[in-house]
Amino acid sequence: MSDETPICSAKGCRADAVWVLAWNNPKIHTPERRKTWLACEEHREHLSQFLGVRGFLKDVVLLTEWESPEASRVPVSGTPESPGSPGAS
Ligand SMILES: [Zn+2]
Repeated sequence: MSDETPICSAKGCRADAVWVLAWNNPKIHTPERRKTWLACEEHREHLSQFLGVRGFLKDVVLLTEWESPEASRVPVSGTPESPGSPGAS
């Protein structure tokens, strides 16, 4: 038995998820927190609209990219890094 296959988060849908919707409710989550919903091709628009009208939707990413550490995604909230000041010696 395996529950490895992610399923669409839409109510009653049992289709394999293709998309990850990353969202954040500023009333209950800190800004860098990300909740995720999974969506199949059919429900991606429906779910993203649901989140979008509330202003919660942050990102829509292919599941394969979401799970891939090599995905070249720029974090929405950058980690604090010292930029380094060259030539100031
Ligand atoms: Zn679905």
